[in-house]
Amino acid sequence: MHFIILIIGVIAAYWVYNDARRFGYATGTALMWALGTIPLPYIFLPLYLLLGRRPRAVSRPPEVVDIEAVPVEETIYCPMCASKVKEEFQTCPYCSHTLRPKCAGCGRELRRDWKTCPYCEAPAAPK
Ligand SMILES: [Zn+2]
Ligand SMILES: [Zn+2]
Repeated sequence: MHFIILIIGVIAAYWVYNDARRFGYATGTALMWALGTIPLPYIFLPLYLLLGRRPRAVSRPPEVVDIEAVPVEETIYCPMCASKVKEEFQTCPYCSHTLRPKCAGCGRELRRDWKTCPYCEAPAAPK
């Protein structure tokens, strides 16, 4: 009989773990619910359903680009002030230097490493 209870506990724990992860619990917290469920599924499962499944207000900080958190390959150095900036920035936030040159001929945005405008064949403006 014990064996069957254990199987039920493991299945319930597996479900609790995945459900808790879906609800936004950290891996450690979800694991704690699951570990409690294995030996005591008839206690932890109702407990989890009652207390654990409350939708939690996910407090997310406002989206601000943290330049230190950006992977290295996406960062460049501002040619003007040598600050670390994100590859896709239009302008250096530190010195207002334009990071995306525009074609003098057709006004389209050019990549920094382009020598010639691919749209109108005008030579890219000197930096
Ligand atoms: Zn700069
Ligand atoms: Zn052009």
